[in-house]
Amino acid sequence: MADKPLFGKIALIGIGLIGSSIAHAARRGKLAGHIAGYAPDASELERARKIGFADSLHNSSAEAVHDADLVVLAAPVGAFGAIAKEIGSHLKSGAIVSDVGSVKNAVVRDVGPHIPEGVHLVPAHPIAGTEQSGPEAGFAELFDGRWCILTPPPGSDAQAVEIMKAFWRGLGSEVEVMEPKHHDLVLAITSHVPHLIAYNIVGTAADLETVTEGEVIKFSAGGFRDFTRIAASDPTMWRDVFLNNREAVLEMLGRFNEDLSALQRAIRWGDGEALFNLFTRTRAIRREIVDAGQDTATPNFGRQEKKDQ
Ligand code: NAP
Repeated sequence: MADKPLFGKIALIGIGLIGSSIAHAARRGKLAGHIAGYAPDASELERARKIGFADSLHNSSAEAVHDADLVVLAAPVGAFGAIAKEIGSHLKSGAIVSDVGSVKNAVVRDVGPHIPEGVHLVPAHPIAGTEQSGPEAGFAELFDGRWCILTPPPGSDAQAVEIMKAFWRGLGSEVEVMEPKHHDLVLAITSHVPHLIAYNIVGTAADLETVTEGEVIKFSAGGFRDFTRIAASDPTMWRDVFLNNREAVLEMLGRFNEDLSALQRAIRWGDGEALFNLFTRTRAIRREIVDAGQDTATPNFGRQEKKDQ
């Protein structure tokens, strides 16, 4: 039975960037006998049907999860509680419910109460993504070589956790297990606050009265352009991230503001040494990320440079 897939049936609730990428990668890895998908918008279901990454597409989540061995919530985090409530009584005994949400404590809080006896909740967060959304944005290689963090609540079924580790490895990821609260703290500084800074800097630039929006776009330098890429990320998803990781984001923002004040002081007092020392430390961190295979050292992140300036 070496060819038997890990799951007979997977149901994806949400078939945007992450949901469709799971479908593509699960097919590539032969991890599922059948992949079912659900999205509330009928036109999205139609677009997904044309791409063809799912074996069946449904206009009800309850119908999609019928007889599924694994259900993955791949919608914005703010919708998880309502989805879990809707599908709770339709879940097969022994099934695993997981998700891909960018925050984890809120998942245990919102989804946990709707999971019936005999169904196992194993939340997950793939540290992989792009600023694109929708079913067209997905691709099989998205998770290759990237981390996926599992955050099983205390008392979780050990076998279900092992199966989810095998699933994410099959999708191409490396897997780590963490406490949900610890995950939220780590991701607040590595992902959530950087996104907030990007949203803020692009918003500030757009609001400046002396620099018209035309000039912001025309003379956008590499640094600003990289921020605009991040600030183009899905508004619904990121609104839900900040509403559901409030404590950790505020804690990290506090530290960030203190460090920013220190930089402000260094500039005011002409303390070049302090600036140089920090910039040297941060350059080394960039090198470590590239050495760890988490990014490319290619100039401009491997994107094609427009030779117009
Ligand atoms: P996306 O491309 O916008 O896709 C979201 C999907 O969820 C769409 O299929 C959407 O369908 C569906 N959806 C929206 N509201 C729903 C509801 N109430 N019930 C069921 N489905 C609903 O977003 P994404 O980037 O794949 O993000 C999905 C999840 O992955 C989020 O929880 C996010 O935190 C997490 N995540 C994202 C990234 C990233 O870089 N993007 C990385 C890691 C994890 P309709 O279009 O029909 O509404």
